[in-house]
Amino acid sequence: MCGIVGYIGKRDSAPLLLEGLQRLEYRGYDSAGLAIHSSGTGKNAGLRTAKTKGRVRDLQERIPKRFTGTVGIAHTRWATHGAPNDLNAHPHVDAAEKVAVVHNGIIDNAAELRAKLTAEGVELASETDTEVVSHLIGLAQGETLEARVQEALRSVEGTYGIAVLHEEFPDRIVVARNGSPVVLGIGEHEMFVASDVAALVSHTRQIVTLDDGEMATITAGDYRTYTTEGSRTSTSPETVEWAAESYDMGGHDTYMHKEIAEQADAVDRVLRGRIDDRFATVHLGGLNLDPREARTMRRVKILGCGSAYHAGMIGAQLIEELARIPADAEPASEFRYRNPVVDPDTLYIAVSQSGETYDTLAAVQELKRKGARVLGVVNVVGSAIARAADGGLYVHAGPEVCVVSTKCFTNTAVAFALLALHLGRIRDLSVADGRRIIEGLRKLPGQIDEVLGAEPDIEKLAGEYASARSMMFVGRVRGYPVAREASLKLKEVSYIHAEAYPASELKHGPLALIEPAVPTVAILPDDDLLEKNRATLEEIKARSGSILAIAHQNQEKADDTLLVPQNEPELDPILMGIPLQLLAYHTALKLGRDIDKPRNLAKSVTVE
Ligand code: GLU
Repeated sequence: MCGIVGYIGKRDSAPLLLEGLQRLEYRGYDSAGLAIHSSGTGKNAGLRTAKTKGRVRDLQERIPKRFTGTVGIAHTRWATHGAPNDLNAHPHVDAAEKVAVVHNGIIDNAAELRAKLTAEGVELASETDTEVVSHLIGLAQGETLEARVQEALRSVEGTYGIAVLHEEFPDRIVVARNGSPVVLGIGEHEMFVASDVAALVSHTRQIVTLDDGEMATITAGDYRTYTTEGSRTSTSPETVEWAAESYDMGGHDTYMHKEIAEQADAVDRVLRGRIDDRFATVHLGGLNLDPREARTMRRVKILGCGSAYHAGMIGAQLIEELARIPADAEPASEFRYRNPVVDPDTLYIAVSQSGETYDTLAAVQELKRKGARVLGVVNVVGSAIARAADGGLYVHAGPEVCVVSTKCFTNTAVAFALLALHLGRIRDLSVADGRRIIEGLRKLPGQIDEVLGAEPDIEKLAGEYASARSMMFVGRVRGYPVAREASLKLKEVSYIHAEAYPASELKHGPLALIEPAVPTVAILPDDDLLEKNRATLEEIKARSGSILAIAHQNQEKADDTLLVPQNEPELDPILMGIPLQLLAYHTALKLGRDIDKPRNLAKSVTVE
């Protein structure tokens, strides 16, 4: 959530910072700003800032003339404290306008600190929690900038990734991390900092990821890392695999469309090198789970938020079906706040695209503290959850830029199929069933492309659904998580209200909502529940509701059917969600929505 970029080197920083912000805009986009050490003289000398409500392109128009300098920091905001307006946009400066701070996260004791500063005569210019940090650094007495930032952070409680400029120390940027990601990018006689590698990959692929409680100083030629207490830490750069091109739109009009279209390749990647035909199983390198543990565990609990939670619901069903281990999924935030009973025989699995989702990370930390065994299923290599977990598997979806998840959701579900197969083959899944699932997995990329081939039909249907007041999504057992995710997708991008229910629950209440203006999408795989599902269609028809069926064969009772190729029943949910991603996309397009940046949302939710 929120984007931070910083640059120090020989080049003019503002254009580089703006380019970096544009790459990060999916992380927050209600206001943007930057601060530089100006190379100008007279009234243009010293620390200068420019900021505005709105998008990065609005900021671009607001940059004053002769706004040049080779050191700068920038921010794109997702407001938590104070409305998105010019004053609340970052960077925030201290009273003397010598310190500039950009911040990602939430300062929990901001109200207290604001009151204290006000009592000391400091005038606060914004409503943000961030501004207190600028004043605290401005008031700190230490000799070095590092010492002043450390002193300030000692009174701060909460989560932060911050980058700091100080007029008296124009040769450096100081950054600190606690709960919100900060990465350094190592260039040739230049250094970068960012909240996400996306901002850096067009300049360097040499990255240093900071840990919680860690700080760094970057100068044009060097960097060093240390703790908030000041002791040096040892870090060496890693090379990121994702190339700059994977962050481009590649001929599509939106990232969402590009990412939907990439799914066959993405699924190919999550399977690559993992299938073992000889033993009808898969190899999952980083799992760190020996066969004895896999045999003796008694439960699996999957934790995630939003689409990751829904992918976890599919995962829980796959694990129950293939490995016969009781499994369920729960929203990570609920889990961490209900003082959960942590059971030593349960395997906990945390799911997150960014690997930085705060609620999920906090659940992992709580579990680790209580001695549980935790695996991570994440997309971003080396992210906080990947590092905090005992082991796990990467979903290899490649960078996902659109705020709403599509390819990462699909790849996460496939990653769970791999895990379920692996656990199953260590337990009681037969060789024949193992082979059957492997064959099914191999068919997925081709079948995904087949589903995507129906886009013109889906686009036509979207034209009809764009006028719906509300929509109902229903599915049974394997179809239910698909209904949940499809309903979320529609809400997120089109803003049409939608509900998802297990089909069997309809008659227990929500059927009251069914009428011609409330169409239903029914997930109808050709499995042993098909007859029961058909009965649900009758119930809806009897209330004159229209029905779109996602099915393996034409459904007479439905007004429209979108046919999806059949795979193994356990894997069918993975395919059945895909046409509904396109339905959400085209419905939003018809309604003129800002598809890659839905209102009020941001990707990588690194705040509570
Ligand atoms: N809490 C800060 C604010 O509201 C930072 C939000 C962000 O991460 O963008 O300004």
